[in-house]
Amino acid sequence: MQSFTCPACHARVYFDNLFCACGALLYYEPEAQAMWNQAAPCSNRDSIQCNWAAVPDAALCRSCRMSDMLPALNVGDNQRLLARAERAKRWVLANLANWQWFTDADPGARPRFLMLSEHTGGQRAAQIVMGHAGGQITINVTEADQLIRLQRQHQLGEQYRSMVGHFRHELAHFLFDRLTLADGFSDAFRALFGDERADYAAALQSHYENPAAPGEDHITAYATAHPHEDWAETVAHLLHMVDFTDSFVSAGLDMKTLPADYAPYADDDADHLLSIAAEVAIAINDINRALDNTDLYPFVLTPAIREKMCFAHGWLKRHAARGA
Ligand SMILES: [Zn+2]
Ligand SMILES: [Zn+2]
Ligand SMILES: [Zn+2]
Repeated sequence: MQSFTCPACHARVYFDNLFCACGALLYYEPEAQAMWNQAAPCSNRDSIQCNWAAVPDAALCRSCRMSDMLPALNVGDNQRLLARAERAKRWVLANLANWQWFTDADPGARPRFLMLSEHTGGQRAAQIVMGHAGGQITINVTEADQLIRLQRQHQLGEQYRSMVGHFRHELAHFLFDRLTLADGFSDAFRALFGDERADYAAALQSHYENPAAPGEDHITAYATAHPHEDWAETVAHLLHMVDFTDSFVSAGLDMKTLPADYAPYADDDADHLLSIAAEVAIAINDINRALDNTDLYPFVLTPAIREKMCFAHGWLKRHAARGA
């Protein structure tokens, strides 16, 4: 994530801040990708601490407008969980805006989100399957509870699980549908990831019955299940890497190999970007070990995975403004 300054006092402020230490109000303006001191607030500012400016002549911001369904906020922890989930959604939408996705310059379709909770107020908690279908993304806000999410992470044997990761993964499925409208995408995709027309339900069932190891070709075990999941996992990890590198640079940190004024989202050379990101990850993994914390980024990029990430980067970086 880029760094921001308060226009009133020029102090550094952060993406989620509602106020600056100087007392000024802060509003994130997604089209300008900047913090403002004055704006029409999103009407979810008080209820879920959304600090984005409202879309002109609308009550809600660009992000909150994409949520078609919300959980009952008066039940259990839903209000707090929705606030965390929506914060992760805004983060990922702000990331994707660096490549013009869902900005004013992007004439294509927008995702619709169903933000659901397992706590509906009824007797039994509902089972919610996160996923994407036909432009609609279902998110289980219950996983914004860290304890619950970590339990599931361990049950599923995953190395990493986060709300930001869920949004990156599900939005990748949405972006896939957008990209299939672009000339040449589907053939090039199938040559690298396999044919996504393979039976999805059967593939998922066989994955859960007999999960394959990721091996050299897949970033995670889940990516082995089906070409659609390989794409979503690959894109999510590409977005992880670009964004933690962007945060590294924005924090004013430096490495010998880092070009002057390096801007990760602006780099057209994915191979170069991934090499820098890998170096950042190795350095911060080492810092984390000083506190006996887990690694920042516990994954290894093989040549096959890098090739897929470079493919995804090329298409994602070039195609939003063309209405793909
Ligand atoms: Zn200030
Ligand atoms: Zn909002
Ligand atoms: Zn998926």
